[in-house]
Amino acid sequence: MCGIVGIVGKDINSDDVLNRLERLQYRGYDSAGICIKKDEEFKIFKEIGSIDNLKKNSPNLFGNIAIGHTRWATHGKVDKINAHPILSGNGCWAVVHNGIIENYTALKKDLIEPDVKFQTETDTEIVAMLLERSKFKSPLKRFIDVCKKLQGSYALCVMEKNTESMFVAKNKSPLYLQVKQQNTIVASDPVCFEKGKYFRLEDGEFAVITLDGVDFYNNKGQKFSKKEYGYFEPQSFSSKENFKHFMLKEIYETPKMIQDLCKHYQKINWNFFKKWWIGKVKLVGCGSAFHSCLIGAQYFKKHLNTDAEAVTASEFLYNKEILDCSTLCIFVSQSGETADTISALKKALKKTNKIIAITNVNYSTLATLSPNVLPICAGEEIAVASTKAYSCQIISLYLLVMAIKSQLNKGIKQVLNVSNKLKSFSIDISKLAEDIKNHQNVFFIGRNYDYITALEGALKLKEISYINATGYPAGELKHGPIAMFFLLAN
Ligand code: GLU
Repeated sequence: MCGIVGIVGKDINSDDVLNRLERLQYRGYDSAGICIKKDEEFKIFKEIGSIDNLKKNSPNLFGNIAIGHTRWATHGKVDKINAHPILSGNGCWAVVHNGIIENYTALKKDLIEPDVKFQTETDTEIVAMLLERSKFKSPLKRFIDVCKKLQGSYALCVMEKNTESMFVAKNKSPLYLQVKQQNTIVASDPVCFEKGKYFRLEDGEFAVITLDGVDFYNNKGQKFSKKEYGYFEPQSFSSKENFKHFMLKEIYETPKMIQDLCKHYQKINWNFFKKWWIGKVKLVGCGSAFHSCLIGAQYFKKHLNTDAEAVTASEFLYNKEILDCSTLCIFVSQSGETADTISALKKALKKTNKIIAITNVNYSTLATLSPNVLPICAGEEIAVASTKAYSCQIISLYLLVMAIKSQLNKGIKQVLNVSNKLKSFSIDISKLAEDIKNHQNVFFIGRNYDYITALEGALKLKEISYINATGYPAGELKHGPIAMFFLLAN
């Protein structure tokens, strides 16, 4: 995941775009860029690394239309050339994109003209090139024409040099819009907005933003009116307070979030879930959310004696899954915008209505598509590596299981007990960190629940330190990996 912010308005400035883009840092990124149109010229600035870096190396320019992007490279290395915005060959179109254009190689092959020279290694550039070459005159028609050719996931925000409009479309990746008196903002997450109502763009819909506001179009180019989707209430979480970084702050917030979660779960009417006849359970997620699914599957087996299996969302999509109307499918995602998890949910909806989304974002795509939603009440999580949200996912699953077993109060008591202990728990891990930082490979080992924690620990170490790490069941070490210890010993 990464981020897009676009603004159209009188005398907007590039710093405002970058400040809003900063609120999307939790989604992770490796480079950032901005394009602002000034005096019929695109002014483009890109930097590897943080938005701060980009701020330092770009002037605050004023204009009427601008787009910003944080990239998490999927195609092509992390460098300034591949960073977005990406220009078409003639420099008339500027494109920012979140997601993956899966058929970009085939589309590139179709552009057989010898003069087509791609400047970047990205899948995104094909969008800019196709926009330049579309046979249609009107920019909107060109944009619709190009989007129809694309396969994969995309949130796209594009500008054309001679048009005072911004064009926006999406497929599988989220995009939201907010119209204020002074300006209209488009963003990957409403956290970039000001207090007030906002729209959510759906797959296959197009938006054209001008100084007068926004118009929505279907894929035939017909205008339609759209209702606002939600109301954004800014939260005050986004400060590091006295902590060195957000991840540390969020770890320390865990006990408080667990208490909020317990309070909320006490108020839920669980009768609806208890009435379900559950034959088996599939728990689906990606990354840390998949690890919470692994733990959740253990809870279902241990406390409810129900057959339960955790599957990564991508495998759930590729494999044949035996689902019927007695299968309970649980989809876990912190943001509720994980593309594979959303596609997996759509696949499951064809077979069963016993579906629960467990997510931290109640306005997310996953929450909107799912017939039932359990919030994890973890508050805003800014750090890329999930900590408090991971704990809250696990506790949501535990309390769900205990509620189905009619033992919610017991479950809540146990959980609150743990969270109280966490409040006073303190350990100095700096020595351990000092030692680990000099290693190239780290094995995390454990049994049963600790094995799953080992998987999560290895994932965290990889994400945060780029040290290669593997989570392994302790009992399996002797069946292969032990060979490496012999190698190291000799
Ligand atoms: N696939 C595009 C790239 O690698 C966009 C990645 C993103 O979502 O940031 O440039």
